[in-house]
Amino acid sequence: MIRRGLSAYAIFLASDLVISWLIIGMVLHETLSLTQWGQILTVNLVIAIVEMLAAVRVLRVREQKIAAMTRKVQGMLQNEEPAHILLKKTDPYYDLTMTINQLQTHQQQLLREKAQQGEELKLLLSYLPIGVMVIDNYRKVELANAAMAELLQVPISPHRHPFAQDIQQYELVALINKVFEDKETRRQVITLPGMPTEKRVEATVVYTSTSEDFFQILVLLYDITEIFTVEQMQMDFLTNASHELKTPVTAINGFAETLLDGAKDDPAILDQFLKIIQQESQQLSELVQDILSLSRIESQSVTQHDLTRVHLGAMIDDQFKVLQQLAEMKHVTLINQVADDVQVVTDQSKCIEVLKNLLSNAIKYNREGGQVTVRFEQTATSWTLHVADTGIGISQDDQSRIFQRFYRADNSRTKQVVSGTGLGLAIVAELVSAMKGTINVQSQRGVGSTFDVIFQRLQLDE
Ligand code: ADP
Repeated sequence: MIRRGLSAYAIFLASDLVISWLIIGMVLHETLSLTQWGQILTVNLVIAIVEMLAAVRVLRVREQKIAAMTRKVQGMLQNEEPAHILLKKTDPYYDLTMTINQLQTHQQQLLREKAQQGEELKLLLSYLPIGVMVIDNYRKVELANAAMAELLQVPISPHRHPFAQDIQQYELVALINKVFEDKETRRQVITLPGMPTEKRVEATVVYTSTSEDFFQILVLLYDITEIFTVEQMQMDFLTNASHELKTPVTAINGFAETLLDGAKDDPAILDQFLKIIQQESQQLSELVQDILSLSRIESQSVTQHDLTRVHLGAMIDDQFKVLQQLAEMKHVTLINQVADDVQVVTDQSKCIEVLKNLLSNAIKYNREGGQVTVRFEQTATSWTLHVADTGIGISQDDQSRIFQRFYRADNSRTKQVVSGTGLGLAIVAELVSAMKGTINVQSQRGVGSTFDVIFQRLQLDE
């Protein structure tokens, strides 16, 4: 640039020199000697060289300023923060540098805002209970949140990578591929394999397009495992409850019809059938009672506890009296090992219902001449009630299922011998959990079972 500027300047000077020479020549024609001509030429040359040096300097300074501005703009393009260029107001580049400086300030502000928005989005996504993944049109993951990693049970790389690296579940991959093909949003309930149990998710795959040739796929996974389980439980409960209610009703109806058809004329059959009808009505009434108890426990009121100080030994004696007849029928001995002075703070009515169910089971499923023993233990923070029997015991498999509604272990044997609804332990489990306690069972077939109910020690606000 300097060289080009200088050659232009040299040509300008040379022509300047020739022209001034000619003018002088014309004005002073023939009056100047050769020496004088030489002096004029020398002076002219000296002036020209001085002017040229000054021009070189000006051009060099200008070039330095342009280079500095170029470096700054290049730095801005690289998202760096180059220092501002400061020039005097009189400088011809003053306006240009000021504009570049302002542009940089504006660019930095935009970058800061963008970074802040990015952070906010990340934070929002990390707290979102829904799994989110953004896939670009090259099938690469641009963004995914923690919930998505948890649902898929894979660590998701923060760098762009193929989505197939994270999503391998066949149905979900097929759903995403379908959206890539059809360019239409789709929704489907999918089962994801998981530890310890599989998960049900509602997968929504959204197609979003910002321009003709650019689109993104947004995968949203909403965990509906709990809702699904509750719905399933409600459906199972309805199916089981109607089945269990139908059995005694059908029996009552059948025996009543047989009696009306003439069987009532035989006193022995009349007596036998009436007893069956009575037993079945009793079963029906127990079932209705248990179903009502369960729905009452499930309703909100169960979370309100009515805490009082209870004499545990006396409470157990009372329940022994209630169940005395049942125990005598099987010659089962009831042993209360809880000391008279033991007191606990608990919800008495819930505690009685728990105890009644455990004791009646311990008698029902006992052997002839067996025993039921109730013991008490406490630590600084908790107390435990043990209800032990010498009965038929419960197999390892059944131990995890007896707390389910309507489940009766080893049906073929116990259902015929012992009457029951299969709801007693479900009621116990609900009550114990409502009181923030836990219940465990240890049992051996043919030896007996022990149910341990553990509660936190509570204080009364007196
Ligand atoms: P049920 O009305 O049948 O007694 P529960 O819910 O109280 O219903 O008990 C569920 C099942 O658990 C019973 O059918 C029985 O098979 C088993 N079970 C409960 N308690 C005992 C026990 N003390 N000994 C042996 N089996 C028991």
